[in-house]
Amino acid sequence: MKSSQIQSYKKQLAALEAELMDFLGLSSESSQAVELDQARMGRVSRGDAMQQQAMVSAAHQRDEKHLVAVRKALKRIDSDDFGFCLECGDDINPQRLDVAPETELCLDCQSLQEQRQKSQS
Ligand SMILES: [Zn+2]
Repeated sequence: MKSSQIQSYKKQLAALEAELMDFLGLSSESSQAVELDQARMGRVSRGDAMQQQAMVSAAHQRDEKHLVAVRKALKRIDSDDFGFCLECGDDINPQRLDVAPETELCLDCQSLQEQRQKSQS
């Protein structure tokens, strides 16, 4: 992969990382947003609040996982491993990386993994 390409993925990943940290309240500005949320929660019923909280924490967990994947991808860029499947070492289709630069697996390994996850549940 050309280094100019890698640099553009790196930029995308850095932007994603900042965005996710913002969602997760890891950046300094977002602590205020959390307080506002709590004030708003005061007006809804307990059941609604709990449901809302469950939804928020599910989204939170998803964002946390996403953030971990983004950071791993940034590390792979630094160690020149970016763009290769973690399972088989093949090149990951650049079209997949364009959509999600944090992609870790090639299409084959990804579908294998999804099948495995399905059969487990
Ligand atoms: Zn693979």
